[in-house]
Amino acid sequence: MALELVRAASLDDVEGGVAIHGGTEVVPLLRDGILRAEKLVDIRGVIPRGVDGNRIGAGTTLAELEAGTVIPDALREACRLAASPQLRNMSSIGGNLLQATRCWYWRLKYPCRLHGGDRCHAREGEHREHAIFANDFCASAHPSDIAAALLALGATVRTTERELPLAELYRLPTEAARDIVMLAPGELILELELPPVDASVYLKAMDRKRWAFPQVGVAAARTGGETRIALAGVAPVPWLLDGIESLDSATPLPRTAWKVDVARALVRRALAAVAAQ
Ligand SMILES: Cc1cc2nc3c(=O)[nH]c(=O)nc-3n(C[C@H](O)[C@H](O)[C@H](O)COP(=O)(O)OP(=O)(O)OC[C@H]3O[C@@H](n4cnc5c(N)ncnc54)[C@H](O)[C@@H]3O)c2cc1C
Ligand code: SF4
Repeated sequence: MALELVRAASLDDVEGGVAIHGGTEVVPLLRDGILRAEKLVDIRGVIPRGVDGNRIGAGTTLAELEAGTVIPDALREACRLAASPQLRNMSSIGGNLLQATRCWYWRLKYPCRLHGGDRCHAREGEHREHAIFANDFCASAHPSDIAAALLALGATVRTTERELPLAELYRLPTEAARDIVMLAPGELILELELPPVDASVYLKAMDRKRWAFPQVGVAAARTGGETRIALAGVAPVPWLLDGIESLDSATPLPRTAWKVDVARALVRRALAAVAAQ
């Protein structure tokens, strides 16, 4: 079947199609037959782009954020450490928040729970890079560095329908609801708003120095005497950590326990870094 590509002239034009911004996620998913669509709607002309004070348009690219002068350190560093320069030039921050899991079983179209099946192949099989929290139903590890940074920074998301804290954009997958994102069909992310923070940092463990998803990413943001910590790569959704001692309640799978040690080391370093700023 032919795939139609239209350019949105207004926010209403997305109805009935799949939104595409930079396409760095949509195109591979279409190519691999994971995402099916008859119509793609290019939303680049209708989604706000750029930084205005503490507001970031959802169409702003990771490359633009990496170079921004008024971007909190945690977000800038999360963007700088993500993907490759070419990908960061194409990747919008809105699309980054909605990227799908990198779980290899899911990407290879195993009929696992996130594809509507009744097994988690990773729990039973190869799960070295999978989740250490909330991994009972699905052990995927959320891949977005940027979502962890925004979660620590206390970001608010504005969509075509509402405003919500970033944490409420996500839910853990369950038997009844397998999708981890809480957007309604056709609902678009327009903007992110960041409250002021005194200091922030993002640290990332990867399996090579560049161009790799987070094995563990740690964002910390301090406002006055309070510090929020959020992690990437440790749970099916970006994970807010209630203090370093909460790592004691991690539930790693047999070959994932190393992530707890890495997370502990990075959280310690992140806390020291924001305390010293
Ligand atoms: C090889 C590779 C390495 C990567 N490494 C990293 C990494 O280390 N860290 C990291 O955090 N990310 C990484 N990424 C993810 C990358 O940053 C995302 O693919 C990118 O940000 C998605 O943005 P996009 O504009 O291309 O989205 P698209 O592919 O256009 O869209 C992605 C999804 O978001 C939806 N969408 C897009 N914009 C909106 C909007 N405004 N409102 C509602 N829905 C929308 C689309 O319908 C689609 O479902 C990597 C990706 C690749 C391919
Ligand atoms: S971890 Fe999640 S995505 Fe991966 S195989 Fe298990 S259910 Fe599927």
